[in-house]
Amino acid sequence: MDWPTPRSAYVHVPFCRHRCGYCNFSVVADRDDLMQRYLAAIDHELEQIAQRLQRVPIIDTLFVGGGTPTHLPNALLETFLLSLRRRFELSEGFEWTMEANPEDITAEKLAMLSEFGVNRVSLGVQSFQDRKLAVLERSHSGQSAEAIVQQVAGTIPNVSIDLIFAAPGESLSNWARDLRTATALPIRHVSTYSLTYEKGTSFWTRRRRGDLSAVDESVEITMYDLSRRVLAEAGLTHYEISNFAKPGFRCRHNLAYWRGDGWFAAGPGAAAFIDGVRATNHRSTTTYLKRIENGDSAIAESETISAAEAAREGAAFGVRMIDGIDLQQLHSRTGIAIETLCAQQLNELQSQGLIDRDGHQIKLTPRGIHFADTVASELLG
Ligand code: SF4
Repeated sequence: MDWPTPRSAYVHVPFCRHRCGYCNFSVVADRDDLMQRYLAAIDHELEQIAQRLQRVPIIDTLFVGGGTPTHLPNALLETFLLSLRRRFELSEGFEWTMEANPEDITAEKLAMLSEFGVNRVSLGVQSFQDRKLAVLERSHSGQSAEAIVQQVAGTIPNVSIDLIFAAPGESLSNWARDLRTATALPIRHVSTYSLTYEKGTSFWTRRRRGDLSAVDESVEITMYDLSRRVLAEAGLTHYEISNFAKPGFRCRHNLAYWRGDGWFAAGPGAAAFIDGVRATNHRSTTTYLKRIENGDSAIAESETISAAEAAREGAAFGVRMIDGIDLQQLHSRTGIAIETLCAQQLNELQSQGLIDRDGHQIKLTPRGIHFADTVASELLG
């Protein structure tokens, strides 16, 4: 199949003040001494993308995530932003998201982000309640998070926030309070995630030891349903399993991921998808730096995606969209008819009441929304 040249890019910044107990991202805490080396390495990696392409990539969406990109001190942040502007050409009407943590936001930093063209900020708020934030090992307070959302929106109006639910000890009324606080703020987008206990994190160990207890699954489901109701009432449309947006503010970058459009990527642990090849960089920041500094590739593993795999992935991610997915469009893009390739799975999912089919359109049923992962893994085969 013909793969279009990607029009999106992801850049990973691994630095954080502290590694939160539940986090298993590619992150280094308390290693600000590596920042200068990182900036040189990332610029070099981005230069290589342009060299392979024989021109500066023209992109519609740029997502700078982490880690905490805004943890870079102002002078280094400026160097980084200059590097991004030099290494990418942003198309007319681009979307440029920077992830940020409330404790790093200052008026100077916001002004700098805005001046360089950042037009969307994704804030790692997680909660507006001090006790829950302490359990999650976040260092901002609930009150400061509210003030920071207001402050960011004053400079960069497209603000998204991340919220976590089902934190240890959290009740339904705690979660309702977080949702109500969020909806009173000038936000355009919310991502909600139930807390997961990933192997290798301190939360996973503490849960096994019995120091932390997970919220009961039935309460977690009720919390999820509450998010859908409260956010919908506030005009935030549920458009993907974990994502809600005001009209016109769906995250275009993530939509490109979910459609399997292809994207460039750079930084430790970052995964690119170019010309049907998924290539993932080394997760360890020090290994990543050493490899780039030695003139080696930062890629730890890569796999070529066949047209059938691309179609399966397109269906699995596409079905997570609340509006569903048009299998005819997927067929035109990949040359593979999912209705034939996954005929048995589609029939079973339909008979279990997890998906609805309407012509070439499939979508999760209200019950299926709670089993999106099961549906996706069935389609992946
Ligand atoms: S701030 Fe975010 S990326 Fe950094 S350690 Fe905490 S959860 Fe992970």
